[in-house]
Amino acid sequence: MSSTHTQETIAALATAPGRGGVGMIRISGPLSQQIGLQLSQRSAMKPRYAHYGPWYDAQGRLLDEGICLWFPAPHSFTGEDVVELQGHGGPVLMDRLLQSVLALGARMARPGEFSERAFLNDKLDLAQAEAIADLIEASSQQAADNALRSLQGEFSQAIVALVEQVTQLRIYVEAAIDFPEEEIDFISDGKVSADLAGIIAQLAKVKASATQGALLRDGMTVVLAGRPNAGKSSLLNALAGRESAIVTEIAGTTRDVLREYIHIEGMPVHIVDTAGLRETQDVVERIGVERAWSEIAAADRVLLLVDASETQATDPYQIWPEFVERFPASHKVTVIRNKVDKTQEALGLDVTASTPIIRLAAKHQQGIDVLREHLKQVMGFQGTTEGHFSARRRHLDALTQAEQALYEGRYQLENLGAGELLAEDLRRAQQALGEITGAVSADDLLGKIFSSFCIGK
Ligand code: GDP
Ligand code: ZN
Repeated sequence: MSSTHTQETIAALATAPGRGGVGMIRISGPLSQQIGLQLSQRSAMKPRYAHYGPWYDAQGRLLDEGICLWFPAPHSFTGEDVVELQGHGGPVLMDRLLQSVLALGARMARPGEFSERAFLNDKLDLAQAEAIADLIEASSQQAADNALRSLQGEFSQAIVALVEQVTQLRIYVEAAIDFPEEEIDFISDGKVSADLAGIIAQLAKVKASATQGALLRDGMTVVLAGRPNAGKSSLLNALAGRESAIVTEIAGTTRDVLREYIHIEGMPVHIVDTAGLRETQDVVERIGVERAWSEIAAADRVLLLVDASETQATDPYQIWPEFVERFPASHKVTVIRNKVDKTQEALGLDVTASTPIIRLAAKHQQGIDVLREHLKQVMGFQGTTEGHFSARRRHLDALTQAEQALYEGRYQLENLGAGELLAEDLRRAQQALGEITGAVSADDLLGKIFSSFCIGK
């Protein structure tokens, strides 16, 4: 366990601001105990014991009464001396108490600083520290369960296991390069390629689980686009299951960008109903149109709606040439033929053309399940209740980088027989994985190489 990395004592309100039965101020750092003792006018506190009593400021004025807890280092959240003050949860009281804590030598904690200290003191790794934030922000049961799993270290353990395997392989490969007299013919030796294949397979599993977790955490953004009266607001309402958008028969009602937030089996879906995209002289509408384009650029999926009773069109270019001109290679479009209750078309998904088509009737809630299923499918969301890791984009990017490096390593090995390049790729994979937990440094690797190989030459 490393010692405290910083000498400053920090403090902050740990409960949500506002009114509540209880409010809690957390103090971490070397002055914590002293501050707790001074406020409660005590000469001693027992570790991890609830001390009930009044608190006073430096002038002896009564501040509040409540419970003071002392967690001596290293057995605390941050690994430092920590004091928690649980008082009455009123904003005025809590603010006054915090001011008194600051007057006794603490400073205001920066956002995330308690977790940062916990990381620096080896109480948590990076992925676990992030899981705490995810847990608090979780918007569904599944997302909360995943964050808990990551906090418990399941994700970190999977990463650590991968790093370990990559490290071992790299040690083996580097030894073969550095000591050719050992005559480890590692290229023809099946061990390297078998180990590499094993690592790649394991990484793919972790990545698949992390991808599901990231989807449950961040979800997807769906843009509804189409001419006025195509039925965008009706579709938004059908997906959301309530009347959030104004549905009207007058064209151009949806002037701005409307947002709705739903869940599909726990996956958050941010739905954006764009202004009826068309050339307009109206300033308000014109701003809406520009905003709509930037929403579209950022979206995971664009649902291009048409009124099926007005057009036969199923091709994005026919429906909306400007879109295809702006995003010529876009594969994120689904054509929605709405109002099929007025036509003879069969409901459902049609994938015979290069752009998928869904026929539905938003106003009558027909075909909406097909659309939900389609959105799950295009995101690769499995919607299982099986456990996943709460992962972030940062983690997925790191896993992808590691995967890429391993693929390149395999190529070097199989096609070029290049051991040095393979070693370099393994180093990159290790680096990328280490970024997830914040654990790997070059020194670690050197230490491992020297301790596991007793070369003595
Ligand atoms: P928006 O301008 O694209 O947002 O279109 P709205 O959602 O406001 O719908 C325009 C009109 O089409 C309204 O009168 C809706 O009731 C009607 N509408 C929407 N969906 C359907 C549908 O599935 N069937 C029928 N028959 N009418 C619909
Ligand atoms: Zn609308």
